[in-house]
Amino acid sequence: MHHENPKINKNLRGRFAPTPSGRLHFGSLTCALASYLDVKAKNGSWIIRLDDLDSPRVQRGASENIIRTLEYFNLISDEPIRRQSDNLKLYEEIFGDLIRKNLCYRCECSRKRLQSLNNVYDYRCRNKKLSHEKTSVRLKISETNNIQNFIDNIQGNQETAHITSDFIIRRKDQIFSYEYAVVIDDYVQNITSVLRGADLISSTFNQLILHKSLNFNPPLYSHIPVVENKDGEKMSKSKNALMEFSKTKLSILYLALDWLGQNPPAELKNESNQIIIDWAKKNWCPKAIPQLLSKSITEQAQIL
Ligand SMILES: [Zn+2]
Repeated sequence: MHHENPKINKNLRGRFAPTPSGRLHFGSLTCALASYLDVKAKNGSWIIRLDDLDSPRVQRGASENIIRTLEYFNLISDEPIRRQSDNLKLYEEIFGDLIRKNLCYRCECSRKRLQSLNNVYDYRCRNKKLSHEKTSVRLKISETNNIQNFIDNIQGNQETAHITSDFIIRRKDQIFSYEYAVVIDDYVQNITSVLRGADLISSTFNQLILHKSLNFNPPLYSHIPVVENKDGEKMSKSKNALMEFSKTKLSILYLALDWLGQNPPAELKNESNQIIIDWAKKNWCPKAIPQLLSKSITEQAQIL
């Protein structure tokens, strides 16, 4: 049974949107927890969404596994869980608008050619007026939609590190780009607050450009450091670092809060997930999250 909490803050909505390409690991779970606390600390809503658009990457059973893992940690979506594949019609409609308004164009450049440009596109196909379907499609960037900096709620002012050029919103294989889909998803779900890993900071510029091109109000972005393992490598889903952590008696949520700089009291170490989450909601302090692009789990590993 779903019942309305009268105190719910309808103007604050966050989400966790994993790609179901594998199980959650310590890094993705930490992201889920932080995105949850970021809105729940102020009575907002938290939504799980499955970013399953990049179908070649989607793994069978991964969605169910992710949802079960989140449930185990009492991280429960306030609304029915949506999948990007539910939104295909809407992506097509908005895409049709962009084509009609001449805000994007087809590009037939080969991968090899783009690599030779160091992936800074040189606008070669902008005025070719290609119409065949087996091409990628690029958004036109102009003075009216370009964004070169934004204020990240955790990392502070961010400026783009590279030259922005027309980027792909629909791939040659007809799959919409991650950036295109995610902007529409966040818009239709009225997401006001996006918290995720710092590996997505560079993509945020393109997302903001898309928000502007579509006249959407962008959410507030917060990026937390990417969790690295003891050897300084980004955690991969296949390695399933969560399993390693579950061997310890210490709560994984406790370790995640500690890693997020939240300074949880020692007596929480062996408490239940719900008690730890309740503490974290009351004491959530985004300012305490380290302003780093990545941070290893060495310290925690030493506790184990
Ligand atoms: Zn081209």
